[in-house]
Amino acid sequence: MSFIVSKFGGMSLAEIDSIKITAEIIKSDPSRRFVVVSAPGIRSGDDMRVTDMFYICHSRYLNRENFIEMLDKIEERFNGIVEELGLTTDIHYEMSDLKKNLFLGRTNDYIVSRGEYIMAKIMAEFLGWKFVDAAEIIFFNKEGTLNTEKTIAAIKQVLGNVDHAVIPGFYGTVSGANIKTFERGGGDVTGAVIALALGADMFEKWAETTEIFSADPSIVENPSIIRNITYSELRELTYMGIRMLYDDVILLMENSGIPTSIRNIHHPDDRGTLVTKELPPDAVRDVAACIAGRRNFKVMHIRKFGMNRTVGIGQKVFGVFTKLNISCEHYLSGIYQFSIVVKNPMFDLKRAEIIKELQETINPEEIEIQKDLSIIAVVGQGMGTVKGIFAKMFDALAAAKIKVRLIEQGGDDLNILVGVYDEDFDEAVKALYKAMIVQ
Ligand code: ASP
Repeated sequence: MSFIVSKFGGMSLAEIDSIKITAEIIKSDPSRRFVVVSAPGIRSGDDMRVTDMFYICHSRYLNRENFIEMLDKIEERFNGIVEELGLTTDIHYEMSDLKKNLFLGRTNDYIVSRGEYIMAKIMAEFLGWKFVDAAEIIFFNKEGTLNTEKTIAAIKQVLGNVDHAVIPGFYGTVSGANIKTFERGGGDVTGAVIALALGADMFEKWAETTEIFSADPSIVENPSIIRNITYSELRELTYMGIRMLYDDVILLMENSGIPTSIRNIHHPDDRGTLVTKELPPDAVRDVAACIAGRRNFKVMHIRKFGMNRTVGIGQKVFGVFTKLNISCEHYLSGIYQFSIVVKNPMFDLKRAEIIKELQETINPEEIEIQKDLSIIAVVGQGMGTVKGIFAKMFDALAAAKIKVRLIEQGGDDLNILVGVYDEDFDEAVKALYKAMIVQ
């Protein structure tokens, strides 16, 4: 029988009503057999995520400030959930245990992981499912990366014969018995790796805001919602700041070939957005999937006569940026020129050092720094091979009187990037959306 691993984010578990909706969603499809949960999120404007409350609590404890007040608030919050749902999970016991561990000097990661741990216990009781601690199945290497091999083996062993289980997201075990968390928002990784290890038919990510728009709705009026997208397209969008799935999840899922369904708990009947390795045949689009962009880049043109004939000059230029620990986001080269695109404010902070180092290393004739650029990506798998695509894009930009300052097409046919001055960003996005997305 086909089965699904579902991850529910903190906002899905923030209010009693949303917890009830979440349980209804889970029960509405018998193939949902493994559920990963976050700690409860924000309920209203001045509220806090439980994970943040734990962070504050631990830092107050370390600074010898009053942390008890915050611990009490967390206990009150979990107790409220248990009481309103008519459950018996012993929150006082869990919180006393946590306090004991705090005094024993357990790490920050251990303390903050208790948000998902307790929520998973509550959810397991509410659903009548087994609780499986992530510490038993998620393992990290000493340097902090996921130990995929050990994790997959443990998941198969522990969950292989279990029908239904609730698992806390966000943490696992490192170096024997210590708890380690993923980066913030990393609970999705737990769900993805469980789906991968068990060979699920689908990984679902349920949240409150899930729409992936084909352009930024604050710039383009009513942009369409993307219903199908590939993992590699989504990776491009992540780079542009549209973070629907954590990077490691995209990688794990793309390699496994398991589709991810991004769903909204408030519209459970809406099929949401399906992320797959390749687009299904009925979802192949004419041109692009979306227009995404980011402001605030600096472009530095480094000119030196004979650059093309000087062996190793590129290595020297990049060596300067490596030495100063600055990532070169994009680079283009001409016969006598290298153009490096760097994110601001990093560039501005190290401007003098970069120039000094470049002068000492390659002694260029000229270093020109352009005014701030925005990079806009027209994203769509296979797009680079569509005939006439450049004409369409640049006609649209020319008609909108936008000066294009940079063009880049990657070898992977996933996107075409254009650089425009920051002040032209909105108009360029609008023009490209009209030309490339609206059919
Ligand atoms: N609760 C954790 C956080 O707030 C992890 C997650 O929600 O995925 O970052």
